[in-house]
Amino acid sequence: MAERGGSVVIRPFPSTCEVCGSTVGLINSSFGALCSTHYEEAKERVKTEYKGEPEQYGSEPICPYCGHKYSDAWELGLGDEEEDEAECGLCESAFKVTAHWSIDYSTRRMEVGSS
Ligand SMILES: [Zn+2]
Ligand SMILES: [Zn+2]
Repeated sequence: MAERGGSVVIRPFPSTCEVCGSTVGLINSSFGALCSTHYEEAKERVKTEYKGEPEQYGSEPICPYCGHKYSDAWELGLGDEEEDEAECGLCESAFKVTAHWSIDYSTRRMEVGSS
């Protein structure tokens, strides 16, 4: 869990790729400011480094390619379908999302002697 008061480095928006220093085609991505080449590399790297199962099940959607958790399922832009396709905002992989709905029951006593 992330602790409050961690070190957040506030930097001015970088205008060069953090890896090679190129200024061409800069992408302000989840991985930082990167040129398209290193952005592709960074996306591949998170997928390569991810050791999770290709199928994920939990209370929040998890990208089965890079393990990125979506605490807010709306981030994935899902519709009302039980099964939908989504694209990971981090590694840009497309994956299937199935919503498992659970049913809750409530019971209460019949009213007696109300005739
Ligand atoms: Zn670069
Ligand atoms: Zn992903």
